[in-house]
Amino acid sequence: MSIPIYLDSHATTFVEPRVLEEMLPYFGEQSGNPSSPEHYHGAAARAAVDRARQTIADCLGCIEARDILFTAGATEANNLALIGSWRASSGQKQHFITTAIEHPSVLATLDYLAAQGAQVTRVGVDAWGRVNPDALRQALRPDTFMVSVMAANNEIGTLQPLAEIGQLCREAGVLFHCDAAQAVGHEALEVEALQVDFLSFSAHKFYGPKGVGALYRRGTEPTIPLQPILFGGGQEMGLRSGTLNVPGIVGMAAALRIARDEMEQENRRLDKLAAAIFARLQQAFPAIRRNGSPQHRLARNLSLTLPGVEAAALIQLLKDRVSFSAGSACATAKPEPSHVLKAIGLSDEECYQTIRLGLGRAVQDAGVAEMLCAGIAAAPVFLD
Ligand code: PMP
Repeated sequence: MSIPIYLDSHATTFVEPRVLEEMLPYFGEQSGNPSSPEHYHGAAARAAVDRARQTIADCLGCIEARDILFTAGATEANNLALIGSWRASSGQKQHFITTAIEHPSVLATLDYLAAQGAQVTRVGVDAWGRVNPDALRQALRPDTFMVSVMAANNEIGTLQPLAEIGQLCREAGVLFHCDAAQAVGHEALEVEALQVDFLSFSAHKFYGPKGVGALYRRGTEPTIPLQPILFGGGQEMGLRSGTLNVPGIVGMAAALRIARDEMEQENRRLDKLAAAIFARLQQAFPAIRRNGSPQHRLARNLSLTLPGVEAAALIQLLKDRVSFSAGSACATAKPEPSHVLKAIGLSDEECYQTIRLGLGRAVQDAGVAEMLCAGIAAAPVFLD
């Protein structure tokens, strides 16, 4: 059997060969511990981490490289931003505002904080999955501590108006956290222009390795207080204990540099490819609908509702030829319909008839649309 075509780039991407090449020495002769810089191997690892931190800070327009804190990924970065900043605060402000379509690593963390006494408002989104900044403004209270809004949705690809949200948070004196796991490496994000205080991301979403990510924390103008959520050796300025994942960090920096350099061209290509695949599917299956914002979207996203076709059955039918998911990979273990699709107005039945295609560097032409068409034609009809 040949390897199926990979169309699940929101779940993860594969390590780009150029990235792997840069990582390899740090599994071998350079694999010292950066916390032991007194000898050759430790110093080499420390220098590599310093260079990677600078590269990532430059790509995101940070004032200081030390504003980047390395973590095991966006989940940990989200936990650190939300829990760590609240713990570091005076405790006077109890209120968090977020949206109905955030990733579980934000929503579940806020549930945890709510159990500790925080109050959380989840603001809805429109039919395209966009949050209206006015709705956020109306949700603000004198005791609002933080607004947490994702950059791009992992199911429907909708991009949020981050600059407007950053502006309104700054004016209101409220912290702004952004889960940018789906957007870093795919959209040009500058922390200064967005006036964001915290930004979370994972390397494996932009052709870097899994298990490594970072939290941007505004360190100057003004410094945002943060407490650790992991305790131990005091790495990362005491904010994230644990031996640094040096090959992962080196790989993340390489992946981000390459993604930034190729972003414009790649997004133009993916945009055209997604439109071509959609047009072909629509020809064969006129009832198909594309979810998410037509203008404000990740170029690689195709969230498709196929009335009458059961997504789970289609995935099984095509699994020898194409890898893709229903709704979101993070939610497939749960039988409930996607909270994101429900928030944009889909019924339970429509949620179960929705697939998520994530295009990427490995997909060069729209030929995959033929396989999908054949699968849809053969798929069992959905019965509720
Ligand atoms: N936020 C969003 C929007 C995501 O898509 C993901 C990954 N599915 C995460 C956070 C968590 O990333 P990780 O699993 O790498 O920690």
